[in-house]
Amino acid sequence: MLAPRFIDVHTHLERAIEKLPEADNFITDGVTTAITGNCGGSEVDLAAFFARLEKLRIGLNLASFIGHNSVRSEVMGTANRQATPEEIARMQRLVAKNMQDGAIGFSTGLIYIPGTYANTAEVVALAKAAAQYHGVYASHMRDEGVHVQEAIEEAVYVGKETGMPVELSHFKIDNKRLWGSSDKTLALVERFRREGVDVVVDEYPYNRSSTNLGITLPSWALADGREALKKRLAEPATHARIVEDMKDKMNELGQEDYSYAVVASCDFDHSLDGKSISEINGLKHRPKTLQSEIETILELQSQGDLSMVYHSMGDEDVERIMAYPNTAFASDGWDIEFGKGVPHPRSYATRARVLAEYVRNRHVLRLEDAVRKMTSLPARTFGLRDRGLVRQGFWADLVLFDPDKVQDEATFEKPHQYSKGFDLVLVNGVAVVEDGKPTGARPGQVLRHEAR
Ligand SMILES: [Zn+2]
Repeated sequence: MLAPRFIDVHTHLERAIEKLPEADNFITDGVTTAITGNCGGSEVDLAAFFARLEKLRIGLNLASFIGHNSVRSEVMGTANRQATPEEIARMQRLVAKNMQDGAIGFSTGLIYIPGTYANTAEVVALAKAAAQYHGVYASHMRDEGVHVQEAIEEAVYVGKETGMPVELSHFKIDNKRLWGSSDKTLALVERFRREGVDVVVDEYPYNRSSTNLGITLPSWALADGREALKKRLAEPATHARIVEDMKDKMNELGQEDYSYAVVASCDFDHSLDGKSISEINGLKHRPKTLQSEIETILELQSQGDLSMVYHSMGDEDVERIMAYPNTAFASDGWDIEFGKGVPHPRSYATRARVLAEYVRNRHVLRLEDAVRKMTSLPARTFGLRDRGLVRQGFWADLVLFDPDKVQDEATFEKPHQYSKGFDLVLVNGVAVVEDGKPTGARPGQVLRHEAR
């Protein structure tokens, strides 16, 4: 089967693309174009970033958002307060500058520091700076659990106020108590679509998420950086308040302990990679209590950065969201150094897993719908004209694969395995994968908003 290029609408490529420009874990999974700068995190000087990538040459085509968290950090650091009118104006100028330099839209990550400290008015004000250049608004919403409905309403409100199309990132039900309730959240998305808001969602085909360890802490505890956190922890009353907030959060999530939270990569001690917080707590010979596991987390968080995998979603929701016609596919991943850490397999195998597991084995969706959700649906959302279809005059971004043989190999236990079955992958007419193996070619282009 010959398909147009697979577009990954949600990545964090700026993390490592300059170190690993071939992006082997993406191209071997059939991806020829990736959109990065998601969840509010991007380069804040995209002109310079794009110029560096063009000089370096990269393996796939790349477009980027300008991210709210990065812009806010640049202007306000990680202060836990509302922005002044002067700061709003400075942030707007930074958003507008990056839109002029080719950003594809404005992204937010409203659970992360410091974006979570911003109110809706700030988000709307900055999104307006992107709207004048016809950007897309993509949001890692303020909540994916108990308050997910309000979070959807907030994201759609930004779209309504600015006239921007809205992409709800990695759509999920991230709360064990609420598993099964994606029928309600999808119905809400449909209602807004009927009202005329251009809103779509994206998803990765797994029931586990991946993000930092910091999200287990209350956001107020993380303001102003790591030294400020250490000071708070050294103050007994504040320490106790942090622990109480974390207990409340666990109760809200329906989790009894932190066995659902597994270290993907620990900056300062890689022997912890692949171990759950409960296991690490045990290794420290501490009692098997929630209190003790929380202390373990606080110790780790004080020492450095940890990337985590969370077993937090239900299969029913993953499948229902996948079957929804307006769901595009996205990995939420980045360039992985082969063999390093125990990262979420989504960076290696999102496309192959959809085609093998959800199309061929479980019949959750038809092959042609799966391909549409990797190709023309995202191309339409992001206005990637002359790409995303097999058609004369279009860029030759093509994937040749056998639907009976395509197979995801990466697992949570052994993620460092390339997908099988994508025999030939062309980026701008040049083979980046041939006979299923990376060729080392770097024919990728930066897709600027203007130039695309
Ligand atoms: Zn996110």
